[in-house]
Amino acid sequence: MEFKDLGLSEGVLRAVEEAGYKNPTPIQEQAIPAVQMCRDVLGLAQTGTGKTAAFTIPMIDTLAGGRAKARMPRSLILSPTRELAAQISDNFVKYGKYHVLNMALIVGGTSMDEQIRNLDKGVDVLIATPGRLLDLFDRGKILLADIKILVIDEADRMLDMGFIPDLERIVSILPKIRQTLFFSATMPPEIKRLADKYLSNPKIITVAPPSSTSTNIEHFMVPVPHFRQKSAAFYKLYQQEEIKNAFVFCNRKRDIEEVKKFMKSKGIKVAALHGDMEQSERTEALASFKAGETQILVCSDVAARGIDVQGMSHVFNWDVPHNSEDYVHRIGRTGRANMKGRAFTFATPMDDKSVQAIQKLIGKKIEVLDLDLGKAPPPPPEKPRAEPAVRQHERHHNRHEKQNHRHRNVDSIEVDSDKGSEKNKGGFDQDDLPSFLRK
Ligand code: AMP
Repeated sequence: MEFKDLGLSEGVLRAVEEAGYKNPTPIQEQAIPAVQMCRDVLGLAQTGTGKTAAFTIPMIDTLAGGRAKARMPRSLILSPTRELAAQISDNFVKYGKYHVLNMALIVGGTSMDEQIRNLDKGVDVLIATPGRLLDLFDRGKILLADIKILVIDEADRMLDMGFIPDLERIVSILPKIRQTLFFSATMPPEIKRLADKYLSNPKIITVAPPSSTSTNIEHFMVPVPHFRQKSAAFYKLYQQEEIKNAFVFCNRKRDIEEVKKFMKSKGIKVAALHGDMEQSERTEALASFKAGETQILVCSDVAARGIDVQGMSHVFNWDVPHNSEDYVHRIGRTGRANMKGRAFTFATPMDDKSVQAIQKLIGKKIEVLDLDLGKAPPPPPEKPRAEPAVRQHERHHNRHEKQNHRHRNVDSIEVDSDKGSEKNKGGFDQDDLPSFLRK
């Protein structure tokens, strides 16, 4: 099937062609006709499947025929994160370039005054994160009585982020007669309950079994006997792999800055992205990464879902995610749109249970890549996981400086560990290994 077979307007077809797409993806093939027929849609699809265009493309044509009144948007797209909201808005710009549609982005962390001014102009497409939308609604700055199309994107992510009460309140304010398009990568019971409540006789579209990993991704578990050897593991791979650009996921926000510092010390062009950063910093970090000015983005799970960077070559899990589904989402940042990608996950013996859970979820064993990092260093005096790897070493480094010892920088301590002392040669003790690796 080609886009021209879908009965889209000439303007949309031209924009799609200029984007370089000829054939709709499976979700687009099924969702576009359903949206055109004003049906509700339940899309079970991961990001990377072309799901955003599956709703933006037909919405552009549907909305082309009307006019919005001030402060009364005609359609509403709810997104769990600001980055995803920005990406949806990029889609409307890309595919709607030959249409006159007013769009507004209502997300936290940016000026409310400007957002209110945009609403005053009359908005055809409103893209919002739930918290800021309710904030403006409660201040009487926005009316939701004219919403004809509601899109709920990444519903399961909204659940993870605690947005369900906000979501329920927003939907209760909307007109009962409307078209609802509901997308989620997975269908936990709470999400199923919402889908049943909000959708009427929906067209159900499942494009990839939930919780599966793309066949375009080669992914490996890298045993790291001690968490302090993660820097060494990363740097070894950094030198071995041809990394065009990569996300490096950490479980804890405070580790992100430390990992970033380590990479900077290695001369790597790196930036951070996490929820505690100012919105302007988040936008800038993502923009410079997308523009290829930074090679590595060290991030929290805020970047795990939905963020689309063309042709990302690698993903690293500095930490094994606690939530198995996050593994699928994290590594799914690479291997998108039919391109190949590689993903590496650093697993310490403490991660054993999480690794087992991930393997159970994806239904297969993840290939193990042994980097031969040497024996685990002796336990530090502090609690093992109380501080990130690099900080521990920096402290070590400062101590040495204070004592006027010979200068030994952070990286040589980390990266040389595989060259190590005689004592450290000869690989791992069985006890150092996660149980899934023990013989
Ligand atoms: P999404 O699942 O919406 O995050 O989209 C994933 C990627 O697929 C984005 O980079 C889109 O630009 C790209 N894409 C969307 N539709 C198509 C298509 N029909 N053919 C090829 N790539 C597409």
